[in-house]
Amino acid sequence: MTLLKGKPVADAITEENIAVIESIRKKYNIKRRPTLAILRVGSDENDLAYERGAKSRMEKTGIEVEVVALDAEVGEEEYLKKLRGLNSRDDVDGILCFRPLPKHIDEDKVQYEISESKDVDAFNPVNLIKLIDKDESGFVPCTPKAVMEILKYYGIKVEGKRVVIIGRSNVVGKPLAFLMLNKNATVTICHTRTADLEREVKNAEILVAAAGSAEFVKGEWIGKETVVLDVGINFKDGKLVGDIDTSNIDEDVKFTPVPGGVGAVTTSVLAKSVVKVWKKKMDESFDEVSDDF
Ligand code: NAD
Repeated sequence: MTLLKGKPVADAITEENIAVIESIRKKYNIKRRPTLAILRVGSDENDLAYERGAKSRMEKTGIEVEVVALDAEVGEEEYLKKLRGLNSRDDVDGILCFRPLPKHIDEDKVQYEISESKDVDAFNPVNLIKLIDKDESGFVPCTPKAVMEILKYYGIKVEGKRVVIIGRSNVVGKPLAFLMLNKNATVTICHTRTADLEREVKNAEILVAAAGSAEFVKGEWIGKETVVLDVGINFKDGKLVGDIDTSNIDEDVKFTPVPGGVGAVTTSVLAKSVVKVWKKKMDESFDEVSDDF
């Protein structure tokens, strides 16, 4: 059984991020560091846990974090006012809006308000369109991007492979399908209406489970050559488990553990996107200055 652990992947991305930040600060002789703003409504336990992880990763990377925490009852107008404020601030490079938003805030409306160029978790549908269009100036949601980074780090080629993705959400399943397609995989997306999930799973060379149902994919469905990425985060008997039941999995199968797999990589991917915005901004502003001379 080979575990595809997330930590070495996250550490390698962090090293790359640090190197980019330091080279830009040196090149332009600047003190300014990249800044991520987090916009959170209420105090959901999952949001708070992710926020702690994100802050720790940003700190290791040398990225400043500003958390804007709003009351659970905050109205849509007040939320939009805060978001627009962050959009317009020059010292904020990336914005992460925790989702889902409470029901009284219309997410379909809000998603178009986040500045496309600061939208580091691809909340704005414009960034999803850019992904479909293979336009690399856009952003990709962190979790599917983390899946791709894990495959890259462990040298697992995607081109020509039969990739089966379980889950079709806008945050994980759909963007991941396009990332895989853009790398020339043959992609099947499964969901709750898929007629024979076991057959689809048996056919997979790369399997990504992102359904959010504890250990419902049985180990014996998974072929021994299959690479498995388990995105699911579920609690079962007080324990954190994925969507894959690994108890009967063939010992040759390579898979990401839960915890310590995909989830461990998402914040470093988030950091990479913040660095991308900041670097572009620094390059553009200093190039402008030198043009003036
Ligand atoms: P979601 O509920 O929005 O979507 C789940 C998808 O799975 C749906 O498209 C649904 O059709 C499909 N699905 C559900 N049960 C199924 C079943 N029994 N058979 C086939 N398809 C089924 O969830 P999401 O936001 O996409 O997240 C999916 C999982 O990934 C959750 O467990 C979530 O906690 C986890 N997650 C993990 C990370 C991470 O960093 N590791 C990040 C985001 C989400």
